[in-house]
Amino acid sequence: MSLSEITRTTTADLYDAYVLKNYGRPALTLVRGSGSHVWDDQGRQFLDFSTGIAVNALGHCHPYWVAAVQRQAGELIHVSNLFRNPNQGELARRLVGYAGPGQVFFCNSGAEANEGLLKLARLHGATKAGGQEGICYKVICAKNAFHGRTFGGMSATPQEKIQKGFRPLVSGFAFGELNNLASFEALIDDTTAAIFIETIQGEGGVHPATSEFLIGLRKLCNDHNLLLILDEVQCGIGRTGKFFAFEHAGVRADAIGMAKGLGGGFPIGAIWAGGKAAELFQPGMHGTTFGGTPLACAAALAVLDVIEREGLLAHVEKTSVVWHAALRQLAVDFPAQVLGVRGRGFMVGIQLASEPPPYVAALREAGLLAPMAGGNIIRLLPPLNATEEELACSVEILRSVLVAKA
Ligand code: PLP
Repeated sequence: MSLSEITRTTTADLYDAYVLKNYGRPALTLVRGSGSHVWDDQGRQFLDFSTGIAVNALGHCHPYWVAAVQRQAGELIHVSNLFRNPNQGELARRLVGYAGPGQVFFCNSGAEANEGLLKLARLHGATKAGGQEGICYKVICAKNAFHGRTFGGMSATPQEKIQKGFRPLVSGFAFGELNNLASFEALIDDTTAAIFIETIQGEGGVHPATSEFLIGLRKLCNDHNLLLILDEVQCGIGRTGKFFAFEHAGVRADAIGMAKGLGGGFPIGAIWAGGKAAELFQPGMHGTTFGGTPLACAAALAVLDVIEREGLLAHVEKTSVVWHAALRQLAVDFPAQVLGVRGRGFMVGIQLASEPPPYVAALREAGLLAPMAGGNIIRLLPPLNATEEELACSVEILRSVLVAKA
């Protein structure tokens, strides 16, 4: 038995014996990454367009990011939020530069960011109700949304496969149709505190909110004194060619949730709140032990530095034009298998005519890692610095799999 076989067997055995069974995983053990590629324990190389589900914004082990994290790890890693640390202040300043005047709270994941946002919604509702709790607390979300696996996140995620087994959920959520403004408007009443949606639904199958819809939601929120809260956990941090996906629509949110790409692979989440939403949290109302550590913030600062120095927003915007055209051509060439291509920048969903697992497996065998999403979608989430050649390579691998399955 070779060394690589021993490693593989051992890892598979360890997972079987000791790792809880809440994921169905392929038989693949990844051991190394560099740029847009990862390698498994047998030395096989993959083009990684899953990027840890939109997390590795700079690809794997970008030297600038690695140096920043190594430097910080040797200096100061964690102090808790009982004390200030310089990196947290600086990262907050940089995020305010992107999001607009406001303030930031740091946490550790997308679900945790969303929990904080839901608490902001409740506080805003209580303010509207003259300081009384339990009167104005409804949050209107979108059907087919995904906001995370915590109780608040699940309650805002109206999908049977997510909620089943965990009821009763948190009360006070209602659901309109994405891109149907009238369906949201019809749900607004005196108990409503906020509207909370993903700017581009990710797990639900890559469904962008249209600019017209976002502008309409902004107006509804202004007219009814509701917070407009946008979940940019997956679509934010440059993935669409703007720092935040809602910038394409020219709207502003009252509060924003971020995570995934922000740390470039190091866990960090954040809430930005502006205007009246920035005044809701008072000392003692919300917190987290790990949020905004010097190390997590150093990782995120390195991500922002590289996005800015390497011009990655413009890179995504520019290179995605040719890439999308090539992907759309697949729908033309293989109409029986590919029903359409949608998304923005480096967040793309390929709508298949049948269930994706056989395609995902075949793509993996052909050297491309791409996750699924709801509604028979294959998602492509390249690192923001993927080259034109790597983007073209993804299309060729997809084409080869479609030919083989035709
Ligand atoms: N919100 C959105 C839009 C997401 O895509 C996800 C994760 O996929 C989450 C929230 C939850 O984030 P996390 O898995 O970091 O808790």
